[in-house]
Amino acid sequence: MFLYNRVNKVELKQRLAEETFKRKTISFYKYHILDDPQEFRNNLFHDWFPLDCFGRIYVAQEGINAQMSVSEHHFDAFLKTLEKYEILNGIPIKYAIEDDGKSFYKLTIKVRPKLVADGLDDGTYDVTNVGKHLSGVDFHNQIGKENTVVVDMRNYYESEIGHFEGAICPEADTFREELEIVTDLLEDQKNKKVLLYCTGGIRCEKASAYLKHKGFNDVNQLHGGILEYARQIKSAGLEPKFIGKNFVFDERLGESVNGEVISKCHQCGTPCDSHTNCANHGCHILFIQCSECAKKYLDCCTPECVEEKSTGKGRKKEERIVFGNSRAFRKSLSLLQLENSK
Ligand SMILES: [Zn+2]
Ligand SMILES: [Zn+2]
Repeated sequence: MFLYNRVNKVELKQRLAEETFKRKTISFYKYHILDDPQEFRNNLFHDWFPLDCFGRIYVAQEGINAQMSVSEHHFDAFLKTLEKYEILNGIPIKYAIEDDGKSFYKLTIKVRPKLVADGLDDGTYDVTNVGKHLSGVDFHNQIGKENTVVVDMRNYYESEIGHFEGAICPEADTFREELEIVTDLLEDQKNKKVLLYCTGGIRCEKASAYLKHKGFNDVNQLHGGILEYARQIKSAGLEPKFIGKNFVFDERLGESVNGEVISKCHQCGTPCDSHTNCANHGCHILFIQCSECAKKYLDCCTPECVEEKSTGKGRKKEERIVFGNSRAFRKSLSLLQLENSK
């Protein structure tokens, strides 16, 4: 049997659109030492491809991190495959709250050096000395208490569209940067209760160990991340303290938690929380665009990209105008808004 996808993207998306069955979007991760990540990866592909599983799965020596969609009629068979592997047997699975089943259109399983690219030298601190895991409801109850700080461990493009009330949301573009900024910002608050959170909990495993290593005394983390929080709060009938949308790493690019829109279109400034990638393939930058601007700019980020897309002529690197949601470029967003208001 082959071990990789062999069909092109357009056809795969077409097939997904024509599917007559339903899918569930799920995610799970686990830190667990694997002897042979490549072999494990191949076995998973072998098991999951025939079950029409789609998703993005990373396998590393240190474990697995998976975001997937599984067809409902194969779901029990899928769960059965998990029992075959020590690492997956009994693994907690998180289910998406807003789910049209169209989150992925193919199965990608990659072997990587690490599950989360943190740029840290693991040898320098104890990665198993993690913070205290709090359930969604416990985390919820701690927010807003005295001597407590809530810290968003995700990148800025994620926290921009949604975050917990009163959370510190550093302007970080990478996880590495995030760790540096947080340790710096909280330098004088090492005795406070720190509440960390991220999308599904995996980044907090590393972040909590890192902060403890840096001398923080009371480090806590949201178990299962925002995904699990949203589920628990819903079933407990509580008012979420997470405002806006949770950025997710699949075709949906976000699921709303409390229905509020807290961010703005990067081009015109109207309230909007829909991320998109610039339609000019030479650019492909991730940014927030409203439907009006999508029409006006033909799904591109700047007039330059509109031109490049329509003429097919690429510009030299130094002529490329900088636009986007990374820290170095963020000023460009308001510049474009100024231009619009003229
Ligand atoms: Zn707009
Ligand atoms: Zn562009």
